[in-house]
Amino acid sequence: MSESTQVGPDSRYEVLFEPVKIGPVTARNRFYQVPHCNGMGRAYPSEMATMRGNKAAGGWAVICTEQCDIHPSSDTRREIRLWDDQDIPYLQRMTDAVHAHGSLAGIELVHMGHYGMNLYSREPLMAPSGHPPEHVVPGFARAMTKRDIRDLRTWHRNAAVRAKRAGFDIVVVYAGHNIALAMHFLARRYNRRTDEYGGSLENRARLLRELIEDTKEAVGDSCGVAVRMAVDELMGPRGLVSEEEGCDIVAMLAELPDLWDVNCSDWKNDSITSRFAEEGFQEPFIRFMKDVTTKPVVGVGRYTSPDRMASLVRAGVLDMIGAARPSIADPYLPRKIEEGRVEDIRECIGCNICVAYANHMVPMRCTQNPTVGEEWRRGWHPEHIPAKDTDDTVLVVGGGPAGLEAARALGQRGYEVTLAEAGEAWGGRALRESRLPGLAAWRRVADYRVYQLQQMANVNVYLQSPMTADAVLEAGCSLVAVATGASWHGDGFGRTTCAPIPGAEQAHVVGPDEVMAGASLTSPVVVFDDDEFYMGGVLAEQIRAAGHDVTLVTPGAVVSSWTDYTLEQSRIQKQLHKLGVQIVPLHTVVEVGADHVRAVYEYAPEEKTIPANSVVLVGAMQPVDELYHGLVSRKPEWEANGVRRVIRIGDCFAPGTIQSAVWSGHKFARELDLSMTDDVPFKRESVALAPHDQ
Ligand code: ADP
Ligand code: SF4
Repeated sequence: MSESTQVGPDSRYEVLFEPVKIGPVTARNRFYQVPHCNGMGRAYPSEMATMRGNKAAGGWAVICTEQCDIHPSSDTRREIRLWDDQDIPYLQRMTDAVHAHGSLAGIELVHMGHYGMNLYSREPLMAPSGHPPEHVVPGFARAMTKRDIRDLRTWHRNAAVRAKRAGFDIVVVYAGHNIALAMHFLARRYNRRTDEYGGSLENRARLLRELIEDTKEAVGDSCGVAVRMAVDELMGPRGLVSEEEGCDIVAMLAELPDLWDVNCSDWKNDSITSRFAEEGFQEPFIRFMKDVTTKPVVGVGRYTSPDRMASLVRAGVLDMIGAARPSIADPYLPRKIEEGRVEDIRECIGCNICVAYANHMVPMRCTQNPTVGEEWRRGWHPEHIPAKDTDDTVLVVGGGPAGLEAARALGQRGYEVTLAEAGEAWGGRALRESRLPGLAAWRRVADYRVYQLQQMANVNVYLQSPMTADAVLEAGCSLVAVATGASWHGDGFGRTTCAPIPGAEQAHVVGPDEVMAGASLTSPVVVFDDDEFYMGGVLAEQIRAAGHDVTLVTPGAVVSSWTDYTLEQSRIQKQLHKLGVQIVPLHTVVEVGADHVRAVYEYAPEEKTIPANSVVLVGAMQPVDELYHGLVSRKPEWEANGVRRVIRIGDCFAPGTIQSAVWSGHKFARELDLSMTDDVPFKRESVALAPHDQ
């Protein structure tokens, strides 16, 4: 790491460190962490507060919460609440953590209307006009009366006052992502009212105007009041369009809030993955903002390039650089720019693993930043790591995500490390998969780590160095981490099949590894996806793009079903349709013939015979662990060779996501072990029991 080699920002980036006034408060620079879900929220409040506090330490001038419910009639599943005073203390923990580093804390108040589910509170849903719930849950959202609107304004105002008492500096009025009632009032498709809250744009914007005015009146003396709004829904005339009503709404309310935070709705557009959009893709939709308001404007776009950020400010497009994912991948991004350490930025790869686990309602994870979600419970800091506390020397075998991260973090601890990779390039599967359509940004997993390793005098790295058990023992390192990865079962063994598929041994049947290595295929090609994450879909796309007739068969009801969690599923299916890939859902391949496959239907004893001159079976992964087991079988020789422990890490231990491999490598570097004990391996937060009489 090149820490402390420079002391200030490059003059090109000085503009990013100018203060920005947000009503009565001032942000110390232009880095604004927009609200983002994290799976911690009120369930893991100390984890949430520590995660946010680290970002303040890392230089983000404004740190916002995720969405915060203001009343039981808007009851989210996992995020935070300000229903009454009981919710203040844990939010105060977050504002304290943020203030400790001189940053401003913002809170995003929301009533979700018919987007909610109210699973806990059981209160009926509400909407501008009667409407079915957005989520598939039984029921109907009732049309709000004028009394309901008055109540909503009171709840919002009360929540703003509580937010101020909890220490927040900025209160965000939320009209974005199709989640917020204030946005439902704006949208013609949801608002069929005939009173002063419906009809003309001025009427549909009335509630948003009132919520801003109420909030300013309640807390505007000491808190900045921001609006977070979607100015385009990317659905054409059915939704808001930035050049039409999106712009008109902002123009109408232009000077009312102290700051505008604008984006494209819904979440799958705003947090689009790198597979489907480049850094800064929202820029054309928000470019109009500075023409219609003098207030500071925040926008997002997975920005990790300081050049891009500075040029956006200089061009008068944005006043503050908004970020969710880049701040998760690197909580210290602003500080690294400020200290002239741009090369040390751990750039987000746009994979949405963070989103996926927040959607699973557990503390989020990150492919690039293994410490996220572990800040409080394991005490893992995103930048700092304890100095070495043993005399070990470490050999890491395999330069994929796990091996690279283990070597990097061990090197940072001060260990003498040797990293040996069989291949000609670093990155393992991250590099391999980055060559698949749309996944180029994934190579950042390797790029960040390779650069860090190059700065470390105590780490020696060797490419083209396939290690045998003899070579490992001869290396004479006391600790050996085997990070030799995993391979795909090419025989069809997968989630549904549970066994190799008859006929899979034929020459025209291959797995993902062979396809990625350039196997030649003959049309028609059948891809059988029994994995249901990204691999089956992306291989079908690649093979189709190469000109083959492709049929994708999957036991799932849709293609790449788990990518629903990463917000990609509908885009993947659309993309495959657009390319002309035939999709056969709800079918399992049970036999591969010489020129066809046989697939059975999930719900009836019906079969399909699909012509296939090449078959790609995407099943499960299996560890590449011969080296590990070879070393274990030679345990009696360890001591004489100075080896005290051999450990498998990453996919070699348990195949999974690239994120889990990086995490495994990091964990090994911190603990020098991965084995489980009888103890719970991290701190847990227990909720205090209410007294018996409550
Ligand atoms: P992970 O995701 O766990 O890091 P990968 O499959 O991405 O796993 O990377 C494993 C890396 O290990 C690959 O780059 C592979 O070339 C390398 N490798 C496998 N076997 C050996 C070996 N015997 N010696 C050195 N490198 C190896
Ligand atoms: Fe970026 Fe992926 Fe990390 Fe999310 S999980 S912050 S998308 S690298």
